[in-house]
Amino acid sequence: MRLTIVGSGDAFGSGGRFNTCFFLETAKGTLLVDFGASSLVALKARGLDPNGIDGIVLSHLHGDHFGALPFLLLDAQFLAQRERPLLIAGPPGTRARLDQSLEVFFPRSSTNKWRFPWNVMEIEVARPTEVLGHCVTTTEVVHYSGAPSTAIVLSDGDKRFAYSGDTEWVDALVSVAAGADLFVIECFAYSGKLPGHITWDVLKPRLPDLRARRIMLTHMNPICRGRRGHRALNSVARAVTAGAQVEPCVHRSNLAMRLDVSQRRPPIFCTSA
Ligand SMILES: [Zn+2]
Repeated sequence: MRLTIVGSGDAFGSGGRFNTCFFLETAKGTLLVDFGASSLVALKARGLDPNGIDGIVLSHLHGDHFGALPFLLLDAQFLAQRERPLLIAGPPGTRARLDQSLEVFFPRSSTNKWRFPWNVMEIEVARPTEVLGHCVTTTEVVHYSGAPSTAIVLSDGDKRFAYSGDTEWVDALVSVAAGADLFVIECFAYSGKLPGHITWDVLKPRLPDLRARRIMLTHMNPICRGRRGHRALNSVARAVTAGAQVEPCVHRSNLAMRLDVSQRRPPIFCTSA
């Protein structure tokens, strides 16, 4: 399993980072986890071919996690000449929300005669579900999105990728992280306590409970901007090197970060172009 972090930003592009999008290449195919509003641009900026994607798994239905799907579908229809099938898997309510977003951005597009087959699979929360040969299990978390917001565990039978989605701290994250080769967890802010999101103040004392081989922080807000922000991130990375392996899921430039989920430290950083 190989991960390219296409986007690790918050909803607002803090630090110049793109919205959430994790690009997973496994022996069974290419699956994306989340596809936020800027993700089609981010894919193309990194030289990753949208036509190579077999499926997309959505953690929740906020624009910064699924908002580029109408653009992906229409690009595939009109420019990319896609013929390969595409599966979109998400929480209950995904089909209706996607149709709504297609109509909002491009009226009548939801009734297009599509040149390629695409389908929506709504994943029942907490029920292990096969998605293109992978096992996907979701866990409901605490983050209002008008539909169940979920954490995701995705396994290709060999490696296990886990992601918190957006959420405030819930004890269920301990189970989500358990046994994962990589656990990507949101950490929206550095200090204090926030509804619907995790802060470093809240997360740090819980790190010993997270039994993943490797832990990565994502979805950080403007703490990452400027010199002060970088110092804060570096302190995050240093603070826990003796225990759980935690690292910020960010990069100063817009280079993609690639790593093999099977690998222990250090991560591989390289461009995908
Ligand atoms: Zn959200």
